[in-house]
Amino acid sequence: MRKLLLTKASTFRLREKQEERGRLETLGEIQNGVKMTNQFKEDLFRLFFVEGKKYQEIADLLNISYSIVSSNYCKIKQQFSDDYLEVRRMKTIYSNKKSKQKKDFKFKDFSEFYDWLKKQGNTCHYCKTEQSKITKLIYEGLKNNPLGISSKRFNKRGRSLEIDRKDPLNAEYSIHNCVLACYFCNNDKSDIYSEKEYLENFKEALKERYKYINKKYSKLI
Ligand SMILES: [Zn+2]
Repeated sequence: MRKLLLTKASTFRLREKQEERGRLETLGEIQNGVKMTNQFKEDLFRLFFVEGKKYQEIADLLNISYSIVSSNYCKIKQQFSDDYLEVRRMKTIYSNKKSKQKKDFKFKDFSEFYDWLKKQGNTCHYCKTEQSKITKLIYEGLKNNPLGISSKRFNKRGRSLEIDRKDPLNAEYSIHNCVLACYFCNNDKSDIYSEKEYLENFKEALKERYKYINKKYSKLI
């Protein structure tokens, strides 16, 4: 009796598994036997758009067929459209910086730059203010909203966090020598102070900057 029950249970599980597989195949979540897990899709995204690998290279790396790779290019681009736009934005920063700094630009390739930039997050390394708040304040300032922050310089700079060299005496733009800083901190630190000097000597001023921007921002929303 006990044995029979177990058999019934395992048959039920097997049927459940088959049904789940059928459902996933219909949804396109299983293609040619390859399960399209989120991790797998993220891997494809990175190989396509961050590392810029060719279809055949990806097929070899992931041990899957060329047709699975090629048929997923547009699907992945569509499904991760926000991330795709973010990568494009980062690529523009990368190319601009690379062509401007030439031999001092020491990031190995775009994927190294991408990983570094992702790790920086969206706050200024020095005053810890979120980029979104500064952007909003400047944007309102440009629209002549008195609650925003206004300066002619914001036509060219300020709306995004900028790449700052921690040690300005070291000309290198590299993973070890760069952080993201807001316009105010980057301008203030200039090429005089090192990261350590600026953080230590301007501790109170940095706290004030954080408070000032947050106070202004809270009035705006
Ligand atoms: Zn800052």
